[in-house]
Amino acid sequence: MPEPLTPDRLLALDRRHVWHPYGPMPGREAPLAVESAAGVRLRLAEPVAGHRELVDGMSSWWSAVHGYNHPVLNEAARGQLDRVSHVMFGGLTHEPAVRLAKRLVDVTPEGLEHVFLADSGSVSVEVAVKMCLQYWRSVGRPAKRRLLTWRGGYHGDTWTPMSVCDPDGGMHHLWSGLLPRQVFAPAPPPGFDAAPDPEYAGRLRALVAEHADELAAVIVEPVVQGAGGMRFHSPAYLRVLREACDEHGVLLILDEIATGFGRTGTFFASEHAGISPDVLCVGKALTGGYLTMAATLCSTEVARGISEGEVPVLAHGPTFMANPLAAAVADASIGLLLSQDWAGEVKRIGAGLREGLAAAEGAPGVRDVRVLGAIGVVQLDREVDVAAATRAAVGHGVWLRPFRDMVYTMPPYVTGDEDVARIGAAVCAAARAGVGA
Ligand SMILES: *Cc1c(COP(=O)(O)O)cnc(C)c1O
Repeated sequence: MPEPLTPDRLLALDRRHVWHPYGPMPGREAPLAVESAAGVRLRLAEPVAGHRELVDGMSSWWSAVHGYNHPVLNEAARGQLDRVSHVMFGGLTHEPAVRLAKRLVDVTPEGLEHVFLADSGSVSVEVAVKMCLQYWRSVGRPAKRRLLTWRGGYHGDTWTPMSVCDPDGGMHHLWSGLLPRQVFAPAPPPGFDAAPDPEYAGRLRALVAEHADELAAVIVEPVVQGAGGMRFHSPAYLRVLREACDEHGVLLILDEIATGFGRTGTFFASEHAGISPDVLCVGKALTGGYLTMAATLCSTEVARGISEGEVPVLAHGPTFMANPLAAAVADASIGLLLSQDWAGEVKRIGAGLREGLAAAEGAPGVRDVRVLGAIGVVQLDREVDVAAATRAAVGHGVWLRPFRDMVYTMPPYVTGDEDVARIGAAVCAAARAGVGA
């Protein structure tokens, strides 16, 4: 092991050489250095605001559903490490990949039979789109190569996913002239429990019908739009999309990278609507936050179309495709989830967040407070002062990462009641600080 860096040296080197997400170089704010993590606590290299440990309110961007340093996942990684940590997937296969693929077919909505293991969520979306475009090409409809989505979405940061992210609010409007031009419906009316708006449903249907000849697929995040604005919508609109796609010969891609594995209260968010997509993307919590891996699943119809086409292969194959370490941990993570009352835990956390966030309701600068599954959101009426909000949360011993007009949390499912209450208080404090109060 190399000599550990002193905290000062670490931060100086970080500032000089290391790019952080969505930031300039060098970064505007000094990041907090994490030394280790266990359960729901991140241990810092040195105390900040009197806290050496922070309760993680972010699950490392929706992924660490079991918390950190979990013995079952550690064991899965260690066991695989001693066998083989990586081997190419072209012409070779291995038990972790096969087990994981079978597991994914078993737990995902009906009709998804084939699994492409990718190395990140964005890549799984690229693969999903490539599958759909190639399907239509293969069956003699090459003009069907555009995508339809609704505004307010987020599907990743590589090129094709960027083209279906929210064109205004998103992080990618800089490239709007260069990206493929997709078809956008208005953002779905807000509210998971809100009665579906027949006029909006009609508009969705009409847009699919109008563009059917050029549409390869509709792609949306079901029920919760995550990084595009943390908005919830009625599952009824997903049924509308499913029907419209079936009626007009358009494929349906559901991006469950954020919502998958229980986060919204059902194992997959599409279960709220009782529908199956033709193509499904999963990622983030797939490996319990241990390693980078995502997957694209598709129906036999899509797989057959591609494989009997003019170029009868799916031309995609990441170097680290089906990485055995990641696959072994992913299989263990899904097994661990299924071995417990995950739905009860998600419900318990949701109830705790509802109670904790109630204090923000009607507070100055607060536009909306909402909770679904184990997701809690306080939306402000202005851009949040991220530095002030983060400081306030850290002052409460909690790690949050607010963005745009949002202070939000999606804690690990293993977060105890006291820690959920602490996160709730921290979100409220961060929202107060974030409006400049
Ligand atoms: C995070 C996310 C992605 C992108 O996944 P990466 O692993 O960051 O590439 C795509 N879609 C949704 C819904 C996401 O939340």
